[in-house]
Amino acid sequence: MKKLNVNSDRSYEILIDRGILNHCGEYIRPLMRGNKAMIISDTNVFPIYGGIVKSSLEAQGVEVYSHIFPAGEGSKSLSSISKMYSDLADSGFSRKDIIIALGGGVTGDMAGFAAATYQRGIDFVQIPTSLLAQVDSSVGAKTGVDISQGKNLVGAFWQPSAVLIDPDTLNTLSPHFFSDGMAEVIKYGCIKSKELFARLERENAADIIDEIIYDCVVIKRDVVQRDEHEAGERMLLNFGHTLGHSIEKAYSYTGITHGEAVGIGMVMMTNASESAGITQAGTAQRISSLLKKYSLPCCDSTPLKTITDGAFGDKKASGDSLNVVLIDKIGSSFTKKLRKDELYSFIKGGCKND
Ligand code: MG
Repeated sequence: MKKLNVNSDRSYEILIDRGILNHCGEYIRPLMRGNKAMIISDTNVFPIYGGIVKSSLEAQGVEVYSHIFPAGEGSKSLSSISKMYSDLADSGFSRKDIIIALGGGVTGDMAGFAAATYQRGIDFVQIPTSLLAQVDSSVGAKTGVDISQGKNLVGAFWQPSAVLIDPDTLNTLSPHFFSDGMAEVIKYGCIKSKELFARLERENAADIIDEIIYDCVVIKRDVVQRDEHEAGERMLLNFGHTLGHSIEKAYSYTGITHGEAVGIGMVMMTNASESAGITQAGTAQRISSLLKKYSLPCCDSTPLKTITDGAFGDKKASGDSLNVVLIDKIGSSFTKKLRKDELYSFIKGGCKND
């Protein structure tokens, strides 16, 4: 088992181990102040893993409830959260009880937000079952939901009591969703680790996924620990995301995954910074080749103007300018402030779209 400690407002552990799901109760029980646990999961994940988690908790004497919602980003709404609150209240949950988020990014974001707000905050444990959630969304305490104006516009920073990562759950993930997570893995290499990037080029990630997850979680842990509320360094994690979010929005969040859009965003941004002489020549090509290796696209036909205009609707944009994340070479990143008109011409400089 690999164990990582996260020091924040509230310290907690991230445990990575194959099969940890089967005995998750042993780790969760000592963290509990009450006796009730609500497993929040979706219609895809609960039928596969819900029973295992429930039995393991029950074996420790925990009173287990479950709340299952329809799988998909479409469920990530305040009305779904409202149903969770009702279930928690109807089941007599108090501030001492605990929520278990069992599933991918959508589940973690929503269950975390319900935990952050129900009775002004109750404990929760993350059990991420997708690669994206294991390397990214389960670490860093961001929780939230979408509203019609945009993704993740309502939320809270809320630390889990623990994160339990079982790489075996990736065996039931479709190749498409494995690729989705690989885009974030490649991002970590781009912004912080040339060794990780080179390893992804040299080896097949699926064969060494335990080590890859660990490396990514260490990078994310270190960044968020230094910048819990996204005032500075944490912005680097948004590499590829400024344009990526805008591309997802142009697709109305259907027909393209988050990872696919982020991959395209990384390549567009790096083509631009290479053309501007900021980034070592050949870097965008290396990123493109690696994305292709993991079955991810590296370009898109959405008009450039739509992408750059859309980027200013992102919650990370402040007024007329926004901070974009650039890399000067693989493993080394920084932010640069650009005005609205500058973003378009900057990206245009390296762009084959339009
Ligand atoms: Mg992301």
